[in-house]
Amino acid sequence: MTRSSIVIVGAGVSGLAAAWELTGGAHGPSENTPRVELIEASDRVGGALATTGFAGRTVDLGADGFLARRAEATTLCEEVGLQGELVAIAARGASLWLRGALRELPTGLVLGVPTDLGALVRTGGLGVAARMAAWRDYYLPRRYRVAADATIGEIVRAKLGRGLAYQLVEPMIGGIQAGRIDELSAASVFPALLEGARRGGSLMRALAAHAAATPGPAAAAVADGPVFCTLTGGVGSLPRVLAERLRERGVVVRLNTPVSALRPTKAEGYPWEVETAHTSTPASAVILATPGAVTAALVGGYDPALRELGSVPVAGAGIVTFSLSRASQLPISGTGILVPLATPGPSGSSMLTTAVTFLDRKWPHLRRRDDTLVRAHVGRSDDLRWSQLSDDELRDRVAEELSVLLPQRGEVLDSLVQRWPEALTQYTVGHLSRVERARDAASALSLRLAGAAYDGVGVPASIGSGRRAGREVLFEVIGP
Ligand SMILES: Cc1cc2nc3c(=O)[nH]c(=O)nc-3n(C[C@H](O)[C@H](O)[C@H](O)COP(=O)(O)OP(=O)(O)OC[C@H]3O[C@@H](n4cnc5c(N)ncnc54)[C@H](O)[C@@H]3O)c2cc1C
Repeated sequence: MTRSSIVIVGAGVSGLAAAWELTGGAHGPSENTPRVELIEASDRVGGALATTGFAGRTVDLGADGFLARRAEATTLCEEVGLQGELVAIAARGASLWLRGALRELPTGLVLGVPTDLGALVRTGGLGVAARMAAWRDYYLPRRYRVAADATIGEIVRAKLGRGLAYQLVEPMIGGIQAGRIDELSAASVFPALLEGARRGGSLMRALAAHAAATPGPAAAAVADGPVFCTLTGGVGSLPRVLAERLRERGVVVRLNTPVSALRPTKAEGYPWEVETAHTSTPASAVILATPGAVTAALVGGYDPALRELGSVPVAGAGIVTFSLSRASQLPISGTGILVPLATPGPSGSSMLTTAVTFLDRKWPHLRRRDDTLVRAHVGRSDDLRWSQLSDDELRDRVAEELSVLLPQRGEVLDSLVQRWPEALTQYTVGHLSRVERARDAASALSLRLAGAAYDGVGVPASIGSGRRAGREVLFEVIGP
């Protein structure tokens, strides 16, 4: 019998996780393990996860932490031997820039939606109308008929009014997804919101019940264990270590090798040839762990549902990391600052900054005596201004905005600009059915789709997506 050969296109964390699963996961390879080849376009593994040296330590250029209440990322770290490097977040809460001042976010927020009326009412900066809307939802909830899917903005505006939608929910969800609540799908991004709205009655009470019943960030206040974790070598150390373990297992990892085409063949057991500039690899099955547009370009010609992946919107984001003099005064507590849409900036136009993270407050291993590390996030699906500035212009502009958000921020000792163009898939209304159609079409062709374009933006979701694709392929080519 010929040995099965699986090709994974894309060595971001989802492609690497797929390879891990294909080679036996925690148990390691067996006599049934197929030949696995991982082909990556760039000169390194990790995709949107990467680290660099900055201000005397190793910092992440992309994700700086991951949700630990979902097991996928922490489990993978443990399986590859990084359990000793897991670090729990050391700060809690955050501030919101509202009406010209920093306000402590109320407790009990579920992705920005309030569930604790008392805490909300005590939050400074919220207008009377916003407080009244919350009170009303709690005691006299508005009727609202929700469709199979709706935007997050539509639901929150209908139930809780515009004030809470744009002052609380937009900065929180918009910050994570680099998108707008008036475009993002509730069914994909925030299913508990859709479910709460469907039940009728108070949205705040429905989400409070959900938070109490579901392990996740919403239950942070009641459950045990850290909500977020990182690794002492940075989140970007996970793909590097994973790739080393995969090589030890015999996986072929090819860098600097963009896949240019997938060609169907008639060869028994190898329905695909995976082509690069200089090679062609026969494959029993192919896992496409690439951005949706790349996947569409490679296999869109074989089915309209796969072609449709090419029109899914994406957003870019930028991160400016600063080393600030130790004299800088940050708010007494919290992990950082959320900045609502259209917040006036120092130059007259609205701020580019969407959020600020106090890096060395969150992650104790990054603390040093002489400075403090702060990183500012810019970019949203409808705000590309950051991408038109040079690195120096972007750094200066964000530094000026930081002076408004943190008036006693101290001197900039060092800075680092990192750009992530088109890195964040926008899960717009209809995303779930688009993905289902594409997956059905892919499976029928011995292809699998994995990664942040499908099953959730975030490290744990991407790992889960890759491992699921790996399991499905094993089932298809080896059997149960
Ligand atoms: C700025 C930013 C901040 C984030 N912060 C967080 C956070 O704090 N916490 C969190 O959990 N998540 C965060 N995320 C999300 C998280 O980083 C992603 O969900 C995850 O890394 C996606 O992994 P992936 O493997 O699906 O995709 P990617 O990392 O995009 O990997 C895709 C890979 O495919 C390769 N490729 C493309 N075309 C080809 C081709 N033709 N041939 C071969 N290879 C190809 C690419 O080079 C890339 O390596 C953040 C994302 C961004 C952009």
